[in-house]
Amino acid sequence: MQVLPSLFVSHGAPTFALRPGAAGAALSAFGRALERPRAVVIVSPHWMTRGRVEVSSASTPETIHDFGGFDRALYGLHYPAPGDPAVAARAVELLKGAGWPASANERHGLDHGAWVPLMHLYPQADVPVVQVSMPAELDAALAFKLGRALAPLAQMGVLVIGSGSLTHNLYEFRQGSTAGAAYAREFAQWVRAAVERGDADSIVRALEVAPHAARAHPTAEHFLPLLVALGAAPALLPATVLEGGIVDAVLAMDSFAFGRAVAMH
Ligand code: ZN
Repeated sequence: MQVLPSLFVSHGAPTFALRPGAAGAALSAFGRALERPRAVVIVSPHWMTRGRVEVSSASTPETIHDFGGFDRALYGLHYPAPGDPAVAARAVELLKGAGWPASANERHGLDHGAWVPLMHLYPQADVPVVQVSMPAELDAALAFKLGRALAPLAQMGVLVIGSGSLTHNLYEFRQGSTAGAAYAREFAQWVRAAVERGDADSIVRALEVAPHAARAHPTAEHFLPLLVALGAAPALLPATVLEGGIVDAVLAMDSFAFGRAVAMH
């Protein structure tokens, strides 16, 4: 069996569930092209824990509708993928081994940062899902280390995913707008170029050195999952870009797979 790549997904706004667009189509094609993983382990900024990492070990994780003010149809959506308590236990073990205070949490379900992109990646909800919380103290270097700790999961057929957003300025969010802001495009292209040349140092330092970084990410939490995916990568290259364009004026929706060429059709 080939070692699975790691994946960063842009989950955009919750409405991504209803309007897949280019990003949803690219994720679905990627899911079809990749051999089926035993499970997905996913980190999203919508589950934060202070001073520790928690790993969801529920055998039937619930779908959490952790948002307000969006289309009512979103609240009727459920993602019934099973959990995988054995993979959760292994993740806890790996995190502890790397020095993280970590424990299993059998009550926590899947937040929208997890289930919305997974609806497109694995629409049948037939790949078990384990969610890993994001420590509130995380910075770029620690996010990379968190990913590193999870990297060995790929050897047991687990797809490690960091779910965030390539750009994420909700002050400038305009639902349904088709015109992408130039600064978001510029930041996204800078990061994408670094991804394509396997330049981990630049990606880790992007929030300090990339153009318009402070505007693209007024806070870091939606960028850090990219660094988790980078840390979990079996190799930096080849990298696969799943093009998602820019939606809602300012949300760049590109996703990246690291460490394996994946031919999508
Ligand atoms: Zn989000």
